[in-house]
Amino acid sequence: MKKKSLSIVTFLFVNIFLSSHLYGIEEPLQWGENVSGVSTNFFTTKKEIALTFDACGGNTFSRGYDKELVDFLIKNKIPATLFLNAGWIETNIEIFKQLQKIPFFELENHGMKHRPLSINGKSIYKRKGTNSKKEVIEEVDENNKLFTSLHQTRPLFFRSGTAYYDEIAVDIVRKKLNMEIAGFSVNSDRGATLTKNEIVNILCNSSSGDIVIAHMNHPEGFTAEGFIEGLKILKEKGFSFVKLSDVKDSLIRIP
Ligand SMILES: [Zn+2]
Repeated sequence: MKKKSLSIVTFLFVNIFLSSHLYGIEEPLQWGENVSGVSTNFFTTKKEIALTFDACGGNTFSRGYDKELVDFLIKNKIPATLFLNAGWIETNIEIFKQLQKIPFFELENHGMKHRPLSINGKSIYKRKGTNSKKEVIEEVDENNKLFTSLHQTRPLFFRSGTAYYDEIAVDIVRKKLNMEIAGFSVNSDRGATLTKNEIVNILCNSSSGDIVIAHMNHPEGFTAEGFIEGLKILKEKGFSFVKLSDVKDSLIRIP
């Protein structure tokens, strides 16, 4: 009797396992910014930090350009990784072409429609995520194609709109599209909503190996003012700045 019930359990388990793998009905277990496979910082023995700036572009209110911030980075030759959404690029095509020419910037992928990356339509901040594995690939790869059509190398890094993922979507981008997921360890402007002093304080508390996120699409916010002061202080403390591709082999991922 015991043997029989054991074999029924085994039969059911094997069936569920096979059907979920054969028919792709896996259920993600994680949903958030820090899910398995997301790179949040990097290993280094030097005093260095990676600065990343998002240009969101999911709607017409998020397609601005913080010229003061970017001009400051250019003038001071500060390396940075810029995450550009397709909507933002299409609105700012001449700026995109200028950014392509800056040797210490790298341009990376912030999605086609700025959607959270989900295989089953999860939402966050009232923003509906992608709804299937196919939509995950489209959200990322359609923007890769926009980049290459503009004579830009295919991006190596992806950050989703809202920076939310499930772990299966992350796995698809990493393994099928051969890209890294750029998380962050320091949220320095919270969607360009913080005051100058708040941004300066957060930046000054950054450590070696941090990946800092901020926004370059809200000139009406205080990101430029905060970074101009905050980066000066970090430089005085002996920090230098790197692009994500410079530290690609030292990235620390959520296990
Ligand atoms: Zn964004």
